[in-house]
Amino acid sequence: MNPSASELFNVVGGKQLAGPRTFDKINPVDGTLVATVHEADREVVDQAVDAARAALDGGWGGAPVSERVALLRKIADRIDARAADFVAAEVADTGKPVELARELDVARAAANFRSFADTVASTGLDSFLTETATGTALNYAVRKPLGVIAIIVPWNLPLLLLTWKVAPALACGNTVVVKPSEETPSTATLLAEVMAEAGLPDGVYNVVHGFGPESAGEFLTTHSGIDGVTFTGESATGSAIMRAVAPRVRPVSFELGGKNAAVVFADCDLDKTLDGLTRSIFLNTGQVCLCTERVYVERSIFDQVADGLVRRAKALQLGRPEADGTTTGPLISQKHRAKVQSYFDLAVQEGADVLVGGGIPDLGQELAGGSWIEPTLWTGLDNTARVVREEVFGPVAALIPFDTEEEAIALANDTDYGLAAAVWTTDLQRGHRVAQQMRVGMAWVNTWYLRDLRSPFGGVGLSGIGREGGVHSMHFYTEPTNVCVAL
Ligand code: NAD
Repeated sequence: MNPSASELFNVVGGKQLAGPRTFDKINPVDGTLVATVHEADREVVDQAVDAARAALDGGWGGAPVSERVALLRKIADRIDARAADFVAAEVADTGKPVELARELDVARAAANFRSFADTVASTGLDSFLTETATGTALNYAVRKPLGVIAIIVPWNLPLLLLTWKVAPALACGNTVVVKPSEETPSTATLLAEVMAEAGLPDGVYNVVHGFGPESAGEFLTTHSGIDGVTFTGESATGSAIMRAVAPRVRPVSFELGGKNAAVVFADCDLDKTLDGLTRSIFLNTGQVCLCTERVYVERSIFDQVADGLVRRAKALQLGRPEADGTTTGPLISQKHRAKVQSYFDLAVQEGADVLVGGGIPDLGQELAGGSWIEPTLWTGLDNTARVVREEVFGPVAALIPFDTEEEAIALANDTDYGLAAAVWTTDLQRGHRVAQQMRVGMAWVNTWYLRDLRSPFGGVGLSGIGREGGVHSMHFYTEPTNVCVAL
């Protein structure tokens, strides 16, 4: 028993609620207990949805925009003030390096609230002056909150992805019931404390803990009191949620899996490209939906790119999140490691040459209970291999050569997914040309994961439905009513 392990409750209408059962949250660094978590049953989920409805009808849904914006800014300030607590909670749940949790997850959480406060404060109404033979009218659209929103998020960037949905939902006057991943319950619970400190009315933000099927996830998505579902996670889960909401025809916004390509041309700036690729393959131990798992390289520089990436992969430092120099944490769980390892085995069966990695590292007795895995690179595969077609969600990529620009575009687009792509070239015209032909939601040129929160974020194909970010989020989180006034 870890003496510092905590007990995490559901948060409903501002109160902590126990569930009939608890589950253990295990630290992926060393296998110790992080928290005992109260799982929400159907009754707790019912109470959470009722609390959200009461808060919506009780004032939040009709609160002036200026009031909501002021509260969102206060929440951002409170996240900054308690950044150390959020970082500690995120690190305990995920095992990611402290610096990464601070820079990527927690800083972005505060930025999410500020960005959506700015968006709602500065977005006007659509209006038209309509002139017909019989008269003139003013047409305009008022945007109303969608209602009670179910927010279901994964474990890879827990607070970042949660607040990416909570902030625009609240900004638009909705109330929410959130279900964090069973692997990362801590920061969503801590956020409830911060919401209360900032003065958010009880019931506007509710948290239910648990799993997917036959647990909080399913109880929430099949609940008749939910007006919309926004979900980030695996494509197969998105498909299950679509079926769950279909009988009541509720809107969904889905940010799903990826099998993202990088296209590397011989005219790239090699060092910058290698640094960029290293980040895009291995950041957060490859557990970012945007991570590159397919690298198409122009044949004349294939060996140079492969050698450079192997050197950089070997330089990554696996270790405790707080240790100096740690670049790479464990995978999220033993279960996920078993999945990634099964892909490592499959790659070999499919004929991969393993350039580096491919196994479980020996990091000593102290970390033996963790879910560590080696950063891995493959060559010798083509687009027909399952490991080149299916999302692994680990620190791994396949390197594949190409000869022409047309071939590179065709290879990159030969996938059922369509989330992100990166193009590496010093020929700017080619950069624009190739990026625009990528069948994805986001295409980067000479960079990766550089985000402007006002720009549309989402995917095509198996990678999702809809776009979030800036006004795109407002479209999902509101229902417009068109008013036509004869003049
Ligand atoms: P997951 O789909 O297994 O779980 C995500 C969430 O859904 C969890 O909270 C889980 O408990 C819940 N859930 C599972 N089954 C459910 C069901 N039947 N009904 C309701 N809820 C259910 O995904 P994960 O393993 O937590 O996360 C990794 C996946 O997320 C990867 O595929 C990754 O690419 C994707 N992802 C996508 C984006 C994006 O923006 N496109 C961002 C991050 C992660």
